[in-house]
Amino acid sequence: MSTEMNRKTPPILGSHVGMSGREMMIGSVKEAVSYNADTFMLYTGAPQNTKRKDISALNIAPAWEYMRANGIHDFVVHAPYIINLANTVNPSTYEIAVEFLALEIERTIAMGSHILILHPGAHVGAGTEAGIDRIAQGLNEVLTGTQDCYIALETMAGKGSEIGRSFEELAAIYDKVTHSEKLRVCMDTCHLNDAGYDIVNDFDGVIDHFDQLIGKSQIALFHINDSKNERGAGKDRHANIGEGTIGTEALRYIVHHPDFIQLPKILETPYIPSLTDPDKKVPPYKAEIALLRNPGLQR
Ligand code: FE
Ligand code: FE
Ligand code: ZN
Repeated sequence: MSTEMNRKTPPILGSHVGMSGREMMIGSVKEAVSYNADTFMLYTGAPQNTKRKDISALNIAPAWEYMRANGIHDFVVHAPYIINLANTVNPSTYEIAVEFLALEIERTIAMGSHILILHPGAHVGAGTEAGIDRIAQGLNEVLTGTQDCYIALETMAGKGSEIGRSFEELAAIYDKVTHSEKLRVCMDTCHLNDAGYDIVNDFDGVIDHFDQLIGKSQIALFHINDSKNERGAGKDRHANIGEGTIGTEALRYIVHHPDFIQLPKILETPYIPSLTDPDKKVPPYKAEIALLRNPGLQR
């Protein structure tokens, strides 16, 4: 079958998938295909540590064959959330983050992706300005300007001392990064809501505001999550689609928005109890992708 025949029609929906065992990336693609996804997101190993397998053990070539056969043309990588470029308090945390990020860019490119999502970091008490300076310094250490990869800074909910809770903070990072042409933004709907942006009643207004500060062409992808908290709670707790304070209609509006129709939309919603075995948790992604894709479906 030709790739053209397999090309799916937008919206481009997918979810976070695993990558482990002997199959590694082949398993990731199989998981995505089982959800009828058009794309997917993976961590190159456990998100809470920096232990990584060698690139040669990831099964990249057969995974791409399987992707092509199933009409998947792209995927994105998420950097582990323990790396913190904003840390000025503990120098070794920053150094580990810089070192890891440089390797993660190499891995992302080797795997055939061009988008590496990064949580900007947490200033851990040193203040937003110090944190932003240190994030920019770190990005300047790793971005050579010639890598075929973007770093997509994720919009954050603002829990703890997280940086990236406002578009102004992300704009300040852009301003200080030499190769800012290699930066992009990942819009996380749960985080936007929890940070105080009214994406339920005024998504277009929120985008206008972003456009004035950074430019909407800088948005590389969306994380589509409902939220367990009220707008502005600063919490960051993802809810299943239609079971939070954002709701299916608002999320569908974003997913089908003509300005972003070609961009990947990735679900990071929580696993749900299995209907057959309540002790077991299962991924909700197949049903949630269908729910978002088809405006006719009810929850
Ligand atoms: Fe994230
Ligand atoms: Fe996210
Ligand atoms: Zn989150």
